[in-house]
Amino acid sequence: MKCVSSTSFSIAINGNIHGFFKGKRGLRQGNPLSPYLFTLVMEVLSLMLQRKAWQIEGFTFHPGCENLKLINLCFADDLFLCAHADIVSVKVIFEALDEFKRCSGLTPSIPKSTVFIIPDNVIKDIEKMLRGFLWCQSEMKRGKAKVKWDNVCRPKYEGGLGYRTSEKVSDIFQNGAWSWLQDWENRVPELCNAVEWAHVIWFSQCIPRHAFMVWLLMGERLKTQDKLKTWEVNHNNILVCSLCKQVEDTHAHLFFSCPYAASICRKGAHMVNMPNWGMDWKLICNSLIPSAGRNKAKIVVAKIMFAAMVYYIWQERNA
Ligand SMILES: [Zn+2]
Repeated sequence: MKCVSSTSFSIAINGNIHGFFKGKRGLRQGNPLSPYLFTLVMEVLSLMLQRKAWQIEGFTFHPGCENLKLINLCFADDLFLCAHADIVSVKVIFEALDEFKRCSGLTPSIPKSTVFIIPDNVIKDIEKMLRGFLWCQSEMKRGKAKVKWDNVCRPKYEGGLGYRTSEKVSDIFQNGAWSWLQDWENRVPELCNAVEWAHVIWFSQCIPRHAFMVWLLMGERLKTQDKLKTWEVNHNNILVCSLCKQVEDTHAHLFFSCPYAASICRKGAHMVNMPNWGMDWKLICNSLIPSAGRNKAKIVVAKIMFAAMVYYIWQERNA
């Protein structure tokens, strides 16, 4: 037997011998015995999987395979494993594969393996993380969301932020930053429930931080004092605008009838050559809407200025 196991083979190319490989027992590819052997060996794996599934409490079949109590399918030399996507069920499969590996010496090729898992609770967990990041920059806390999640998930042209819950994380988290899917409206030119202000906020040169603030302003979702007052039990607290210290702040006051904000708005309007900009964000927005879809430098700069004023006034108000 010694001499059989010590054989080695070499390949001659152009008359020269190149390297060698050792002889081993086994079937060469194409041997008609191969499929039979594969079927016999896979039968063992099937039994191991079934046994583990019975032994370990908590294993759940894939919903479509429950009636047949099916865990694996073999086709040619491919193997499909199906189970409900929870930790216990995956553990059962891994343990059975491990046992199979120890008995047969066959190791599944991880790089060649593909896992399809789309469990609902994983999608819910991802949504929870997205909500937490959006509203709290960390974990989601009760009462922190300013806009209903369903509305956030609407496309931008319908007034949402364009998050899609079924989106793969890799599609919306790129190069270490959350992608805001800015090309949404370009991809869908026939806008159905389009909001007319979408192009005032979202354009390829927009600054996402600023755009997000304008988006909140459009829905009047900023927590201004008039809104806070309605939750306040003690009505004796008289709130005043932190910028002018005169009256309570509202969306209309901060953007831009407050004397402090108005002076910024005047300067901003002058800088971008928009003399018709009044001290009312709604009027400014309406004046931008007709040409908002165009990519003219003057319009783009005006939209950037509008968003920057909204952003920095809100920052200053909270400073
Ligand atoms: Zn003020």
